[in-house]
Amino acid sequence: ISINQLEEARRALDAPLFADVAGDAEVSFEFFPPKTDKMEEALWEAVKTLEPLGPRFVSVTYGAGGSTRERTHATVARIQRETSLAAAAHLTCVEATKEEIDEVAEAYWAAGIRHIVALRGDPPVAGSKFVSHPGGYDNAADLVAGLKKLHPFEISVAAYPECHPDSGSVDVDLDNLKRKLDAGANRGITQFFFSPEAYFRFRDRVAAAGITAEIVPGILPVSNVAQTRKFAAMCNAEIPDWMGRLFEGLDDHPAARQLVAATVAAEMCRKLYAGGVRSFHFYTLNRAELSFAICHLLGIRAKTQAKVAAA
Ligand code: FAD
Repeated sequence: ISINQLEEARRALDAPLFADVAGDAEVSFEFFPPKTDKMEEALWEAVKTLEPLGPRFVSVTYGAGGSTRERTHATVARIQRETSLAAAAHLTCVEATKEEIDEVAEAYWAAGIRHIVALRGDPPVAGSKFVSHPGGYDNAADLVAGLKKLHPFEISVAAYPECHPDSGSVDVDLDNLKRKLDAGANRGITQFFFSPEAYFRFRDRVAAAGITAEIVPGILPVSNVAQTRKFAAMCNAEIPDWMGRLFEGLDDHPAARQLVAATVAAEMCRKLYAGGVRSFHFYTLNRAELSFAICHLLGIRAKTQAKVAAA
């Protein structure tokens, strides 16, 4: 390590937290469709809190096997109708024919939805191998091509800094991402990760593969490690030991847990920002506070008044 590098590191450590943010970051937020009236209330509370931050878009997930088809549609359509937000709908290839999926996409277009997050999805039985539906789209790249034939949708696709478990190697994974973008997708949004270095290494590999589309990091502000471990096991994301240790003993201290959660996610976003990232996608889990706090630290302030009526 050279003297220059040492001085640079010292300067970075000495700098007040987030002193370098210049209000030039942009964000998007992901929600899931609510199952109950109570959950619906929580979702709208979150939407209302985050709307004034003026995200580029907000997206709503699609349940395994299309299990939330109606709820996803209703949620996306309501956001589009009742807020100033641009709503994006997630759509998967699981358990459906091309005609059925095209029908869902047509309904989105008719409702004014112009942005789809196009995914393969996971097999209905966790841990089993994905088999495409006979007459269905084979994978996300195939779905992107199908959607583009219907309408000029804006399309986001999934990207995996730590490699998708079905990909034998990072090269296969990268080829797959390239196929999705070549088929017409506009950007990648990453699976969550907890090591900024993993994202930076991935960004370098993406650039070396000649991919110029933006790869937006997906940020999961964690306040429940046990639940996150379950998600992470399904998608090959690594939960570092230090993170488990940070939350030890906080089960009965929800306020302290939130503070720790905000600190961990904020530190990661600070490093990503310092590494040149200017666009962040938050997995909100339908709760606004952590995402709102981190956006605030990233220099994002209210731009509009929330238009959302109380649910
Ligand atoms: P694909 O890009 O199709 O790839 C999956 C794997 O198959 C890759 O490993 C790839 O290498 C391999 N593969 C694909 N095509 C080929 C081929 N022709 N030959 C060989 N190998 C191939 N899931 C949901 O159910 N609902 C959601 O709303 C949802 N939202 C998500 C949002 C984001 C931002 C992310 C990152 C993930 C989301 N997921 C969602 C999870 C996603 O469905 C799973 O990760 C799924 O296992 C893979 O989907 P994909 O779109 O990445 O698949």
